[in-house]
Amino acid sequence: MVEPYKNSLLMTKERGVLMARSNNRRKPNHNRKDNRNRNNNTGYRPKQVEKVSEITYWDGISVNELAELVKRSSADIIKLLFLLGKMVTINSTLDDETVSLVCMEYGIEATKEQVKDKASLEDEEESDPTNLVERPPIVTIMGHVDHGKTTLLDSIRKTNVVAGEAGGITQHIGAYQVNIKGRKITFLDTPGHEAFTAMRARGASVTDIVVIVVAADDGVMPQTKEAIDHAKAAGVPIIVAINKMDKPEANPDRVMSEMSDNGVMPEEWGGETIFVPISARNGMGIEDLLEAILLVADMKELKADPTKVATGTVIEAKLDKGRGPVATLLVQNGTLHHGDSLVVGATMGRVRKMTDAYNAELKAALPATPVEIIGLNAVPVAGDLFKVFPSEKQARDVWEIRKNEKIEQERRENSTMNFDDLASRIESGEIKEIPLIIKADVQGSAEAVRNALEKIEVDGVRVNVIRSTAGAISESDVSLANASNAIIYGFNVRPNATVRKKAEEEKVSIRLHNIIYKAVEEMEQAMKGMLEPVFEEVIIGQADVRQTYKASKIGTIAGCFVTDGKIQRDCGVRLIRDGIVVYTGKLGSLRRFKDDVREVNNGYECGLTIENFNDIKDGDLVECFVEQQVEVA
Ligand code: GDP
Repeated sequence: MVEPYKNSLLMTKERGVLMARSNNRRKPNHNRKDNRNRNNNTGYRPKQVEKVSEITYWDGISVNELAELVKRSSADIIKLLFLLGKMVTINSTLDDETVSLVCMEYGIEATKEQVKDKASLEDEEESDPTNLVERPPIVTIMGHVDHGKTTLLDSIRKTNVVAGEAGGITQHIGAYQVNIKGRKITFLDTPGHEAFTAMRARGASVTDIVVIVVAADDGVMPQTKEAIDHAKAAGVPIIVAINKMDKPEANPDRVMSEMSDNGVMPEEWGGETIFVPISARNGMGIEDLLEAILLVADMKELKADPTKVATGTVIEAKLDKGRGPVATLLVQNGTLHHGDSLVVGATMGRVRKMTDAYNAELKAALPATPVEIIGLNAVPVAGDLFKVFPSEKQARDVWEIRKNEKIEQERRENSTMNFDDLASRIESGEIKEIPLIIKADVQGSAEAVRNALEKIEVDGVRVNVIRSTAGAISESDVSLANASNAIIYGFNVRPNATVRKKAEEEKVSIRLHNIIYKAVEEMEQAMKGMLEPVFEEVIIGQADVRQTYKASKIGTIAGCFVTDGKIQRDCGVRLIRDGIVVYTGKLGSLRRFKDDVREVNNGYECGLTIENFNDIKDGDLVECFVEQQVEVA
C-alpha cells in the first residue's frame, strides 16, 4: 500500500475498517463488481487519478470510506457534496441517494452490497476446504398411506441398532441414524409429506434424498404422485422402495411402469432412479436399500466442516412436563458440544443434556447427527434454524434481537409468494423463477396452460411449473405451494371453502381463470409490475345443492344449504360438480320458503335458480361471487 498516506493515521484507520469488513465477508463472490481488493493493491495517487468505473458500497458507508472506493480524496467528496447543497464531514455516513449522487458525478456505477443481518442464524462463514469431510446423507421417507413407511422406518431402525450404543430401546425424537458398512445414514423419522412440507414451507432444506415407498400390490397412488412432486420441487433425488414384495400379488413391473409414467424412470430402463424391491415386514432388501442410499449420497458428495461451530435445523420440539423445552436438532454443519450456548429460532439456551434416538448421552454431535437437547428457555418451532455462539453473552444479544421481530419476519418471508409484488421481487433480484402449480378441468388444458405460461420471460425470470394436473384445487396443492413458494393457477376449477381457507391462512396465492390468454397476460403484467387496478371476483359464499325440483315455468330450482358466507340476490354464481366448474352465470332468484329474500346466511336453507341454466344436480356446489375493484400494487 502506497505512499503519501500510508503512514497517516487516517489511512491506517480506513484500512482497518476495510480489512475488517473484507474479513467478515460471507462468501467470496467472484462475479461481484467489487473493486475493494484492487484498491488495496493499487493505492491512492492524488495527481494521476485512476479511473474507477464501478464500486460496491455498503449500508452506512462514511465519506472517507467512499473516498477510498472512488479513489478521490475525502476533501474532494466533501467539496462536491457542499456544491450539491449537502454539508458533510469526513466521518459522516452517507445514505443511498448521496452515494449515487457522488458516483453519478464521477461517472461511476454504484451497487449496494447486501449485508447479511446481524441476527441471522445462517451458516455464514466459508469453510477452509481442507476441513471439509464426508457427512452422512439425510433421508426422508414418503409414499402413499399404508404402503409401509412406518414399518420401513421401524425395520431400518431395528435391524441397524448401533452395537454397544443401546439395548435396542429407542425413543422417538424425530430422526435417527443407522450404521451400514461403517458409514452412517440419518433418517427423518416422521413419515409422510407433512413434516417435509412443513419444513420446506419454513425455508429449511434438510433432506438430501427422498425414498418413495410404493406397495407392489397397490402401485402408484395419489400420495405417491404428491411425493414425486415434493421431491422434484425440492430438487432432491429419489430412490423408489418397491415394498410388500413378500405378497403373492406383488407386481414390481407395474410399479416401475407407473412410476415411469410419472417421470421417475428406473435405471434399468435408461432412467436415473434406483428401484429397490423390499419387504419392510420381513426385512428383505433393506440392506440393498441402504446401500442404494449410500450410492446416491456418494454422487452428491455431501460434505461438512466439523471444526466449525454448529448450525442446523429444528426437527421437532415440545414442552416436557419434567424436563422443560425439548428439541430435536439436526446438526447440519459444525459440531454441537455439550455446554454450547445457542440461539434456536426465537429461543436460546445452553445444551444441558444431549441424547440420540437410542437414548445414549452424547458429548458432541457431528454434522448430520440428530440429537435431542434440553436447556432452551422456550419451545422453538420445527424448521427453525439454530446456531451456536462463542459465549452466552453473544447468544443472548442475538436472541434479544430475534425474539422481538426477526423470527416472525423470517417465517413470513419464507412462506409467501405474493402475486401482487412479483415485479418488485423480480427487480430486486430476490426471485429468479416463479414456481407454479396448474390445476385444470382436463389434462389437455393443464398442458396448454403450462406451455403458454412457460413461454413467458421477463427480465430473465421465468415460471417453473412444479405440478400440472387435472382436478380440483386440493389441500395438498396448497401445501405444496406453501412449501415451494408457488402460486396456484386454477383453470375452470375452483378450490372449495376448506382449501380456500387453508390458502388464506398459509398466504398462498390462487389465481382463477378460464381463458388461457388472459392468464398469460395477467402473469406477464404481474411480472412487469404493470397490473392495472382491476375488477376482481370476491367469493362471498357457497351452498350445497341438497335437492332439485323442476318447475315448468321457472326451470330447475335448487334446494340448497348455505355452508359458507352468504348467498345474495343478483350475485354471480358458479356451479361446481366434483371441483369442476360446470357453468358460470347469474343468480336467477333466491327464496327462503315462499318469500323472495335479499340474502341467505351460512347455516340456512334456501331455494335458488340460475339464470338461463337448468342442469343442476343434487350434490353440486353453488359458489357466489361479486365483482369488486381491487387495487393491485
Ligand atoms: P404407512 O401408512 O405407509 O406408514 O404404512 P404402515 O407402515 O403403517 O403399513 C401399512 C400396513 O402394511 C400395515 O398393516 C403393515 O403391517 C403392512 N406392511 C408394511 N410393509 C409390509 C410388507 O413388506 N409386507 C406386507 N405383507 N405387509 C406390509
